[in-house]
Amino acid sequence: MRYVSTRGGVQPQRFTDIVLEGLAPDGGLYVPERTPQADLAAWRKLSYAELAFEVLKLFADDIPDLKELVEKTYTREAFGSDDITPLKTLEPGLHLLGLSNGPTLAFKDLAMQLLGNLFEYVLGKRGERLNILGATSGDTGSAAEHALRGKQNIRVFMLSPAGRMTPFQAAQMYALQDANIHNLAVQGVFDDCQDIVKAVSADAAFKERHRIGTVNSINWARVAAQVVYYFKGYFAATASDGEQVSFAVPSGNFGNIYAGHVARSMGLPIRRLILATNENDVLDEFFRSGRYRVRAAGEVKATSSPSMDISKASNFERYVFDLVGRDAAQVRELWRRLAADGVFDLSRSPWFRNVAETGFVSGSSTHADRLATIRRFWEKYGVMVDPHTADGIKVGLEQREAGVPLVCLETAQPAKFAETIREALGREPARPSGYENLERLPQRFEPVPADAGAVKRYIAGHAA
Ligand SMILES: *Cc1c(COP(=O)(O)O)cnc(C)c1O
Repeated sequence: MRYVSTRGGVQPQRFTDIVLEGLAPDGGLYVPERTPQADLAAWRKLSYAELAFEVLKLFADDIPDLKELVEKTYTREAFGSDDITPLKTLEPGLHLLGLSNGPTLAFKDLAMQLLGNLFEYVLGKRGERLNILGATSGDTGSAAEHALRGKQNIRVFMLSPAGRMTPFQAAQMYALQDANIHNLAVQGVFDDCQDIVKAVSADAAFKERHRIGTVNSINWARVAAQVVYYFKGYFAATASDGEQVSFAVPSGNFGNIYAGHVARSMGLPIRRLILATNENDVLDEFFRSGRYRVRAAGEVKATSSPSMDISKASNFERYVFDLVGRDAAQVRELWRRLAADGVFDLSRSPWFRNVAETGFVSGSSTHADRLATIRRFWEKYGVMVDPHTADGIKVGLEQREAGVPLVCLETAQPAKFAETIREALGREPARPSGYENLERLPQRFEPVPADAGAVKRYIAGHAA
């Protein structure tokens, strides 16, 4: 399989050439040159790791040891059950797909755990080293650290806003004692952390000298890993390969639901991909109106489903590439307009009709909706869901069709968002075993000022 850029400015690359990369050099995103096709009949009975291997080898056909890497990743030890992503049936035709049973209790573990093993493998083969630099407001950073802890030839420098995460989120990162993990607690807010990462990355000489890389959600290996659970969820929710299923997906950077789009393109009979946003409704606006308007940083609202608080959706360009018939010149033009005006509008273009063909529908959810959904699921089914999952369920139920099974993706455990659970239910969320004392474990982090120079000096002194 070869990979091209959505902006058309890059020669086709192999998987191992792009796996450690973020953006393509022309500013676009890497996508496979063609979409491989699924073999549903052969895949239905496979275990998670077997299925992951079948899916991933279509995308990563230049990794001879892929099978071992996949088997090492998707284990009962890491994900709590042999199912890896267990399906809970709430009533006939309504299911919850548990994606949040990994080490940091959010769905990002499913992709990140694989990425950690892939990075270590590729670096080892090449005799190279990598320093991962990132900024986090909570979930992504901890998933990355738990995936990369103890890995050979890799160090992690994760910037987080000091004192601004939930105690649980902070402890998930700061309690790690691995020597290759460096938590930099920035005296500032999340935007300061992001600005520092941008400033450091803009220094090409520094980046080159210290081999700085990232693990953000545009990494193709993360998308590919997420394709797997759409198949797994489909097989668990159906009895035969002819049936159609809809998926409800709480969305932020469009990584999770884009993986569903890829699965559908590979031949999985998905009827609807139901996209849910919170109050930050950039994507809902696009799917309703054809207008994609990115928000200014000051326009982003801090909500009770914080991992969906985005100003723009970093994977969205890949989907638009498909909408415009994989025409890179069109993508370049649309993103030129976006850079100039902060908006492009497809409502009067023939491409917008393709949206219906891709199965996407959307809706949004508010804080009050989340509370009501959490209550409703607790009272009706005895199931506690987190606020992000609640966003997905709320919109999923609005768009549910009679006779079509609905699979709602559970993207985090309620234990991570105790405050909202208390507000909704007046009780503490259950804690999975092993996490009871998390906040009381000894913590290890480095306080730093909100200053790129200070962060650079720290990295230079501790880089791999
Ligand atoms: C990251 C995240 C999301 C959003 O997923 P995207 O791939 O960014 O669309 C939803 N819920 C939770 C809990 C997350 O951590």
